[in-house]
Amino acid sequence: MKIIEFDEKGQRVERDSRSIRSDIGSSLAPRPALKTAARAQPDSASTGIELYMFQTGTLRTKLKYIKMNQGEEDFEIPVPWFLIKHPAGNIVIDGGNAIETAIDKHGHWGAVVDAYDPIMDVADNCVDQCKSVGVDPASVRYVVQSHLHLDHSGAIGRFPNAQIICQRAEYEYAFKPHWFSKGAYIRADFDRPGLDWKLLGGEYTDNFDLFGDGVFKTIFTPGHAPGHQSFLVTLPRTGPMLLTIDAAYTLDHWENKALPGLVVSSADAADSVQKLRRIASDTNAMVVTGHDPENWETFKKAPGEFYD
Ligand SMILES: [Zn+2]
Repeated sequence: MKIIEFDEKGQRVERDSRSIRSDIGSSLAPRPALKTAARAQPDSASTGIELYMFQTGTLRTKLKYIKMNQGEEDFEIPVPWFLIKHPAGNIVIDGGNAIETAIDKHGHWGAVVDAYDPIMDVADNCVDQCKSVGVDPASVRYVVQSHLHLDHSGAIGRFPNAQIICQRAEYEYAFKPHWFSKGAYIRADFDRPGLDWKLLGGEYTDNFDLFGDGVFKTIFTPGHAPGHQSFLVTLPRTGPMLLTIDAAYTLDHWENKALPGLVVSSADAADSVQKLRRIASDTNAMVVTGHDPENWETFKKAPGEFYD
């Protein structure tokens, strides 16, 4: 709608009605600054729900140990883990390698170091990394395990008030793995006294909604490990983020160009990727693969940055 007015010199001015209010007092204050200030207030109001992406260093390995049958060349992968701040209680997802890995990797991991060599500083442990973003370890309500492999079991027993959420199939398998995956389970990490486990029931508890508010849901994705699960995190501003974890180590796994170098069922692993791809397409989620060096580079990293 156009409005006709006359300015102080008596000149006729035609303007858009929407611009009138913001013109008032324009000689007193710069308009853009006012508009910015007015908008900044609601934008900066935090919902208290934030996702932080950390890593406990890297693993130096060979391509074939990540992408089945794909060669002997060296391949270095990040070891990610995630922290979610939530008003109902903080969540640690996986926690990366245990702190002992940084102190005595051969003593803690044994011969598996020959295939997956952890490059980790003591300061990279998940407890100290939580503190770096102001999270008191006592405030962590849940430690959620995608599975119990050694580069994901660093948080178990390190947060005094946390319940540990894991798939029952994974918990049971971790105590009696097949010969080919035995090296990936460090019993000292998960067979600890005084732990409060909550065990989920595979497909029967699919889409388990941790807080009942849709922010954090588990998705059963077996194959790489018998009780592997992935996570759909829905943040107030960023929207849905799909943490595939090791159901898709890299984008090649996501795109059906590779099977995992370590797998208990290739058929289940392929079905799980298909299941996740359907969820990603239904929700338009941002996809975060488990150990892809290039994909990992593209995300906002803690402690400096986070998603909300
Ligand atoms: Zn794994």
